[in-house]
Amino acid sequence: MNITETVLVINSGSSSLKYQLVDPNADGSVASGLVERIGEPISHITHTSGDQVVDEEKPVADHSDALREVLRLFDEVGPKLSEANIVAVGHRVVQGGRHFDSAKIVTDRIRDLIAELSPLAPLHNPPNLKGIDVARELLPDVPHVVVFDTAFFQSLPEEAATYALDKDVAEKYSIRRYGAHGTSHQFVSDRVAEIVGTKDICQIVLHLGNGASASAVKCGKAVDTTMGLTPLEGLVMGTRTGDIDPAAVFHLQRVAGMSVDEVDTLFNKQSGLKGLTGDNDMRAVRSRADSDDPDARLAIDVLLHRLVKYVGAYAAQMGALDVLTFTAGIGENDMMLRKELCERLSLFGVELDEAANAIRSKEPRTISTPNSKVQVLVVPTNEELAIAQQALALIK
Ligand code: ADP
Repeated sequence: MNITETVLVINSGSSSLKYQLVDPNADGSVASGLVERIGEPISHITHTSGDQVVDEEKPVADHSDALREVLRLFDEVGPKLSEANIVAVGHRVVQGGRHFDSAKIVTDRIRDLIAELSPLAPLHNPPNLKGIDVARELLPDVPHVVVFDTAFFQSLPEEAATYALDKDVAEKYSIRRYGAHGTSHQFVSDRVAEIVGTKDICQIVLHLGNGASASAVKCGKAVDTTMGLTPLEGLVMGTRTGDIDPAAVFHLQRVAGMSVDEVDTLFNKQSGLKGLTGDNDMRAVRSRADSDDPDARLAIDVLLHRLVKYVGAYAAQMGALDVLTFTAGIGENDMMLRKELCERLSLFGVELDEAANAIRSKEPRTISTPNSKVQVLVVPTNEELAIAQQALALIK
């Protein structure tokens, strides 16, 4: 192994532990894997190191056992962590509230602040914290760094972060717009600045994956984003509604007799592309739309309609639009969606280079013509690399 230093990046969910050993200097993944169905009778573990892929099924009782299994696989399959020169462990944390506008080295105090924020992200912060606790216990000799999904959006101006809700209620219950996917928006908008050679631009990043969000970034600072108090607000997503009149909640409770939890599940897990078509995977929706399935066509049109609305709104708010960038699973791969959106943005002088748009690549690339008034890019995101780089920068 010819690596100088690595960061072990951990993304701990309620029943899963995803990890990647990253060489932040070479922009590379050294090994990666996933423990799924933690706590169920049979858990599933995959570990990939170079061309070696290990797949195991066995009981894994909790997150502590899961990390022990991961450490065993590094030892048995490689690369041996003792030889990988791990300089930090980087943890993804979903909600940093108003406490965190950047990555932090984990101390007991930082850990407790993350725990305090759990009511704002009850499905995410507690499992993130479990990952932090077991990793600190099992890997006590390296610094642990937390990287927050919300941190990049702490720069939002007050008028973008504030809901027009009773001031005291909002204050008492910390209800404001925190955003999410910030690690990706920061990573991609930084890459864009490198590519165009300056940070002094008005850019919009469209992170279109299973979860989807847009951000407006002016001179390197986020000035607006579509996700709000939680990652439910904004764009149409794989299974989430995105924007919906909150009165739909009252209506479903009063008229359909649904409980809060039922509405929560409906909005977060059974809506979006899945709700409109039965499929949450864009590849399936796209192929159905290609065969003139009306549900699939409408779903894509709803998604596009909202994208156009936000691009227009953000351009107006920033007073200019220099660069528009697509990223994440759909943004990087669905060339038809990019074409459909760019066609709807002719008002802004967006001109797509169809040949460039059709190229499949893992590299950042420009897909607009030289005459286009807005430069359109595809920039692959890499949240693990972003976490590893932030962790490395912090400990140095
Ligand atoms: P997340 O990280 O939020 O789970 P990803 O960024 O991996 O999601 O994106 C997943 C989405 O990307 C899925 O909807 C998937 O169908 C879509 N996707 C991947 N490849 C393609 C493709 N070639 N064409 C259209 N959509 C694609």
